[in-house]
Amino acid sequence: MQIYNSLSHKKEEFVPHEPGKVSMYTCGPTVYHYAHIGNLRSYIMEDVLEKYLRFAGYDVKRVMNITDVGHLTSDGDTGDDKMLKGAKREHKTVMEIAKFYTDAFFDDCKKLNIKTPDVVVPATTYIDEFIKVISSLMDKGYAYEAGGNIYFDTSKLDKYYVFNDFKEEDLAVGVREGVEEDENKRNKADFVLWFTKSKFDDQELKWDSPWGVGYPGWHIECSCISMKNLGEYLDIHCGGIDNAFPHHTNEIAQSEAYLGHKWCNYWFHILHLNTDSGKMSKSKGEFLTVSLLEEKGYDPVVYRYFCLLSHYRKSLVFSWENLDNAVNSFNKLIEKIAPLTKEAPGEVDKNVYATLKNGFTDALDNDLNTSLAITALYDILKADTNAATKLALIRDTDSVLGLDLIAKAEAKAAEAEAAGNDIPEEVLALAEQRKAARKEKNFALADELRDKIKALGYEIKETRQGTEINRI
Ligand code: AMP
Ligand code: ZN
Repeated sequence: MQIYNSLSHKKEEFVPHEPGKVSMYTCGPTVYHYAHIGNLRSYIMEDVLEKYLRFAGYDVKRVMNITDVGHLTSDGDTGDDKMLKGAKREHKTVMEIAKFYTDAFFDDCKKLNIKTPDVVVPATTYIDEFIKVISSLMDKGYAYEAGGNIYFDTSKLDKYYVFNDFKEEDLAVGVREGVEEDENKRNKADFVLWFTKSKFDDQELKWDSPWGVGYPGWHIECSCISMKNLGEYLDIHCGGIDNAFPHHTNEIAQSEAYLGHKWCNYWFHILHLNTDSGKMSKSKGEFLTVSLLEEKGYDPVVYRYFCLLSHYRKSLVFSWENLDNAVNSFNKLIEKIAPLTKEAPGEVDKNVYATLKNGFTDALDNDLNTSLAITALYDILKADTNAATKLALIRDTDSVLGLDLIAKAEAKAAEAEAAGNDIPEEVLALAEQRKAARKEKNFALADELRDKIKALGYEIKETRQGTEINRI
């Protein structure tokens, strides 16, 4: 599989550290509010990646954190505490907020067929681990204490800005535009590992540490949770593109300083879901959630389909019109699959299966090209082969796409049956002729037509309500 690696800025062959096994880490949500459908675009595409790696035969272990502490409104460690902000907004404790929005996040994921990672770790449960790694960074000379906080010293690294080719000066200034400068930092890019001097008097969650009572910075949680569960060598790390800097850049800085060697080989970044007015974000207050889509009558799985129609490395513009187009296209797809579910079971043609499956895997092997994978699905439907082969391909490819294709097609077919509009045209025409024959009292012809209908697999009955046609 070829995958674009943000670290090398090019598509590369994916080769895990240990043959056949993949360690995968995903930055989880900050649980101070509902996830918006932009966040969920990232989780949908990461889910497809994970499922495709499994489909390709890898034994995948995927780990995700839940950020329930330490994330300030500016990713550069300034601004308000996001969790505290959520707690104040709803007059609840931080832990109540965390629990409520963690559950809400997984509910949304379920509706979107996003698998829960193998290991999920709330940051507040790993405080000892953070302290261990920060202490080691202090011992190694990569961290320093200033004004009561512990900072990572970026000047100790040969290269800090690993993801971009910007001039370091420009980037450092740009990121901190509009927010107060932290006087304690030795270098502009230094970041907090542990806060003891909180400017928030009402900081709820605090823990004892060798540097005083305080709480961890945001970045350290992902490094520690990943290293503890996936070891010293991580194959692939995912997240939305906004996390590349400073969050992932800082994760690399501290993890590699701690380990003394390269940590993660592949960085998978998903571009943003935008609206007409720019990036969808939680801090803007107004944002679209899965519940809102449902309230408006949309099936959440259609949003997943909408995301799959675009490549993850392109920004995606959300509009109701674009979503409606996806709804129409999804319905057509289901309508095409529905009749297949009613056909008599047959043998899967192995050769045809293999050729058509290749069309699907070629698409995803090419940097997870999901829109081409959907095209491959249409090729399957158009192919000159039996229903059993098509259904087997749809079932197997849908284990990656996660669109409930068979279940929805079966429901559609049942719906059509209940509405009586699944009777083939030919049968309906014969039934009409039989009705006319009976009217003319030509019972011999009527019986002949009944037999013809029977030969096509349908039974015709006269009831008080009129003529009833049923499948035999
Ligand atoms: P957060 O809950 O803010 O920590 O973000 C959770 C995930 O959503 C991260 O991987 C972000 O990079 C990602 N993300 C945030 N905004 C967007 C967006 N508009 N489109 C796609 N992904 C996003
Ligand atoms: Zn992270």
